[in-house]
This record gives sequence, structure tokens and C-alpha cells, in this order.
Amino acid sequence: MIKTVYLPPALLRQVEGEARAAFPRECCGLLAGRVDGGVARIAAVHPVPNLATAADRFEIGPAAQFALLRALRGTDQSVIGCYHSHPGGRPVPSPHDLAGAGEEGFLWLIAAVAKQGAVETAAFCYRGGGFEQVGLDTGPD
Ligand SMILES: [Zn+2]
Repeated sequence: MIKTVYLPPALLRQVEGEARAAFPRECCGLLAGRVDGGVARIAAVHPVPNLATAADRFEIGPAAQFALLRALRGTDQSVIGCYHSHPGGRPVPSPHDLAGAGEEGFLWLIAAVAKQGAVETAAFCYRGGGFEQVGLDTGPD
């Protein structure tokens, strides 16, 4: 199971930028990469339109998921997780996130963005009906 998530700094900046741009609504997207020996390596961040109507929710449509699955077919990458922002919130999964989770071992990146623009990002793995926080490593590019 995933113990550490490696997210290159350029991709962290991309997620943070989307979180700021979507404020006060939530941004969301999918994470492509590989999981190897307990380490998840995120290779690409794919923004997806947020289909939710409420400001404090996010919803990734199945069309976007299938499109990315198709695009990754034949590569060494797969869809290993999702990300979304918590405008004015904390970088921890909400009860709605838990209710919407279901895929075992799926990675959840949550970017809490303050009104002033500060972003705090944390990573979680959905496992056994709950979220476990995993280490987020944003080492050199
Ligand atoms: Zn959330």
C-alpha cells in the first residue's frame, strides 16, 4: 500500500495555482502516475471541470475519467488518484469526501487554500473504508 507520495514541485505549483484560481469554489482533477513498492510517483496532473453545483463540493464526471484512462492506455502510467481544493478549509478529507470515496488504494490530494492565497496540501490514501494520511514528498524537480 502507498506510504509516500512523490509530487514534483512543478506539479505541486500547478495544483496550488488551480486551487487559488477556483477560489471560492473547489478545483478538482485526476492524478496520473505509478505506484511502486509503496511509493506513488505522480507524473502528471490533469485538471477536470468541477460538475458539482454547490460551492463546497467537487464532482469529477465519468467522461473525464474514461478519457484519461484511454489516453494512458499502453503507457506505464495509470490513474492513481484525484485532487481537489478546500477553499477556506483544512487539508483533511471532509465527511463528503469520505462518502464519495470508494476505490481501495486510491490517492487523494487535498489543497486547502486561504482567501489570501496560502495553500497547504496533504495526501491521503483511501483504504478499508477510511482515509490514511501518507507522506507528501515534493523534492527537487
Ligand atoms: Zn473535500
